[in-house]
Amino acid sequence: MEILTVLIVVFHLVMCQQTPNDLKVEYYAKNIRNALALAEDYQPRQNNSDLLATNQNASPIDFGEFDFIIVGSGSSGSAFAAKMSEIKTFKILSLEAGDYNDDLTKIPYLSTLFQKSDRNWGYFSSPQKNACFGWIDNRCSFPRGKILGGSSAIDGVDYIRGNKADFDNGHH
Ligand SMILES: Cc1cc2nc3c(=O)[nH]c(=O)nc-3n(C[C@H](O)[C@H](O)[C@H](O)COP(=O)(O)OP(=O)(O)OC[C@H]3O[C@@H](n4cnc5c(N)ncnc54)[C@H](O)[C@@H]3O)c2cc1C
Repeated sequence: MEILTVLIVVFHLVMCQQTPNDLKVEYYAKNIRNALALAEDYQPRQNNSDLLATNQNASPIDFGEFDFIIVGSGSSGSAFAAKMSEIKTFKILSLEAGDYNDDLTKIPYLSTLFQKSDRNWGYFSSPQKNACFGWIDNRCSFPRGKILGGSSAIDGVDYIRGNKADFDNGHH
């Protein structure tokens, strides 16, 4: 009887064992499902109140002095900060209004989903006379990343390599 129980337990363990790939798929599927659920309840930001300190009377924290302050850690700000930091004597402060990015931001074209999240500043165009007919009040969504990595963290990750003949012939 005991041997049978052991065999059943071993069989169960072997059959239910998940491979690292299964775990990876499960991890991403769970996170995508969460992002989808958040997108369904999404309300565009109305103002910048989320950027204000919750305690207006709190004393500012003194982080010291810097040679350079880079506002925005998006595509250009991050590259600029990384390049500047190669000069070891420079003291650089890099500021970002958005949150940290995560594994989902590395998946091309999940950007469509992130447009309905707090990773997007939530801008809209002004009402258009001849465009944005599918949008409320003819105001198109104008996505911009509000997250470490900026718009590159919510973009499509498309890239096109220029053909040198186009540039040589002035056809750009
Ligand atoms: C939906 C979408 C899809 C795209 N698809 C592609 C693509 O497939 N291929 C491609 O090549 N390009 C694509 N782009 C364009 C590309 O992502 C952007 O051109 C590029 O990321 C812009 O870089 P940037 O440094 O100018 O600005 P951003 O990367 O947007 O960086 C600006 C940063 O500054 C921060 N910031 C703003 N104000 C403040 C403040 N007051 N204090 C602190 N931080 C602040 C923002 O939160 C943000 O992180 C796409 C863009 C979007 C929005």
